[in-house]
Amino acid sequence: MTDRYAVIGNPIAHSKSPLIHSAFAQQTRQNMRYDAILAPLDGFKTAADTFHHQGGKGINVTIPFKLEAHKLATSLTERADIAQAVNTLKFVEDQILGDNTDGAGLVRDIVVNLSTPITEKRILLMGAGGAARGAILPLLQQKPAILAIANRTPQKAVLLKKQFIQHGQLDAGEYMYFAGASFDIVINATSASLNDALPALPPDIFAVDALAYDMMYSAEPTRFLKYAGQQGVCNLADGIGMLVEQAAESFYLWRGIRPETKDIISRFKKPDS
Ligand code: NDP
Repeated sequence: MTDRYAVIGNPIAHSKSPLIHSAFAQQTRQNMRYDAILAPLDGFKTAADTFHHQGGKGINVTIPFKLEAHKLATSLTERADIAQAVNTLKFVEDQILGDNTDGAGLVRDIVVNLSTPITEKRILLMGAGGAARGAILPLLQQKPAILAIANRTPQKAVLLKKQFIQHGQLDAGEYMYFAGASFDIVINATSASLNDALPALPPDIFAVDALAYDMMYSAEPTRFLKYAGQQGVCNLADGIGMLVEQAAESFYLWRGIRPETKDIISRFKKPDS
């Protein structure tokens, strides 16, 4: 029998998840089908419950439903519990396991695909929303020298620092608070690039040989990556690798098999994909 999976979001038409999971299924010879479901903004629970009751085995959850998915889960992995956001649900009879694979996907993309160690490096994480929150624990587990969280609304960054301080070296504040410091890896986890905006970064924030990483992905380089390039940064990456890696982590949770990601990431990085 064909096992069914889906991604639920709003909007959803742009989602690459069905293509990625179909490629994983083909590569690992899994008998499964993966669809995209558009749920009304007030209709996530109904859409997820319906899919579950019709025999669906699991769901990926995207904007704006990750907090609702967290509430729907009957049990949580540690990383989903700490992130307070869920991007993967696994249905086992009437039980719903919630996981958050975004941060693990980010770390794997940086460390493995981009061959950039995080250990003992100075990291600046821009943003304090769901994506940033999910990234903090996996980044700290790599033991950076410091993880600095900068956010337009500094109180949110400071709250995250308090929540995660027992897990590693953290600092937090608004962008200018970090004036005079430089970082080896600067990660844009804000949604600013969606509006072609740039957070108010202080000058000289990039260390020599820094990596500038934007979680957002688009056909054109994002505003942040263009800015980093103008500052002389040569190592630039968008969030396509993270997207494929978080999908691989979800696939592993569901199917117990880890798919190869390299070829799929290269396929998406081609300009015409
Ligand atoms: P949220 O809405 O939860 O958080 C948005 C964050 O962006 C907040 O910290 C907000 O600051 C900040 N922000 C928004 N606009 C600006 C601006 N103009 N200047 C400075 N800061 C700004 O979004 P998410 O955390 O869910 O998503 C963030 C990004 O990550 C999106 O681009 C999303 O596409 C991407 N993403 C990529 C994934 C991947 O697999 N590649 C997975 C998940 C997310 P404030 O608190 O002050 O409002």
